[in-house]
Amino acid sequence: AKESGRNNYKFYNTTMEKNTYAKLSLERDLRHAIERDELLLYYQPQIELDSGCILGVETLARWKHPKHGFIPPSEFIPIAEYSRLIVPIGKWILYTACKQNKAWQDAGLPKVHVAVNLSLHQFQNSEIIQTVAQILEETGLEPQYLELEITESIAMQDVEKVILTLQGLYALGVKISIDDFGTGYSSLNYLKNFPIQRLKIDKSFLDDIVRSEKERAIVGAIIVMAHSLNLRVTAEGVESMEQVALLQDCNCDEIQGYIYSRPIPSSECAELLAERRVF
Ligand code: C2E
Ligand code: CA
Ligand code: CA
Ligand code: CA
Repeated sequence: AKESGRNNYKFYNTTMEKNTYAKLSLERDLRHAIERDELLLYYQPQIELDSGCILGVETLARWKHPKHGFIPPSEFIPIAEYSRLIVPIGKWILYTACKQNKAWQDAGLPKVHVAVNLSLHQFQNSEIIQTVAQILEETGLEPQYLELEITESIAMQDVEKVILTLQGLYALGVKISIDDFGTGYSSLNYLKNFPIQRLKIDKSFLDDIVRSEKERAIVGAIIVMAHSLNLRVTAEGVESMEQVALLQDCNCDEIQGYIYSRPIPSSECAELLAERRVF
């Protein structure tokens, strides 16, 4: 037992070292990812159920690592967060997304909003309001065509400071939505006090709505509550027509998911916008 205990320890230790090493080397590579042109943005359409039209697109970052290939955001965003690289990277993402949306509009494509995920450290950076204002000015994108997605983890920070930042962003004319709604510890009271326009219901609540009456009840209740607070609701990660039908029954406003499109490169997204295809 002692022997195996030692072996376990040894194994655990090497794995840990490997992980730490991998993380450090990824962090080092991430430092140069922007200048080396390795970061790119994909876009996923958000469809209004009533009209079937694309109303917005969410920006999803991709890292094309020269050695390891595509590294998913679930891996590199946390590295960017703890190394604080998220501030310059996030700024690049915001700028690139706004510039892209303006280019689509200038090309005569239907006007949609571009949604950009804001991480905690980005949001807490004292310059965030100024950064957003400057990017809107530089790109010429009208503020109502930018939407910022924040998570409930942000809502759980120092509430007064959060409200001040949100009010500053809101004053610029950009839209704000709560992402992954229902997965964190949101207080419904905060929702009432935040200048937000949208809730995005997390995929985990939608996975089972076809089979489970309980899940349907939860989703239905979230939507009723959101509407009574004048918030729009987007369902995330929608994959089947059965889910779409149920979400229509619940009066959900918009859907986003593989049922319509996966996240796609900007050129493909432009084609989708140009098609003006109704879902
Ligand atoms: P998120 O903001 O909740 O984004 C939605 C995720 O769900 C995306 O994963 C998207 O590809 C995936 N998804 C969309 N529809 C479906 C579906 O029908 N089925 C399934 N199975 N998945 C679907 P992705 O692109 O891997 O991004 C993961 C997370 O990484 C995002 O979750 C977000 O938290 C973070 N992230 C991505 N891009 C950025 C960024 O530019 N900045 C920041 N701060 N975070 C980002
Ligand atoms: Ca999001
Ligand atoms: Ca989400
Ligand atoms: Ca409706």
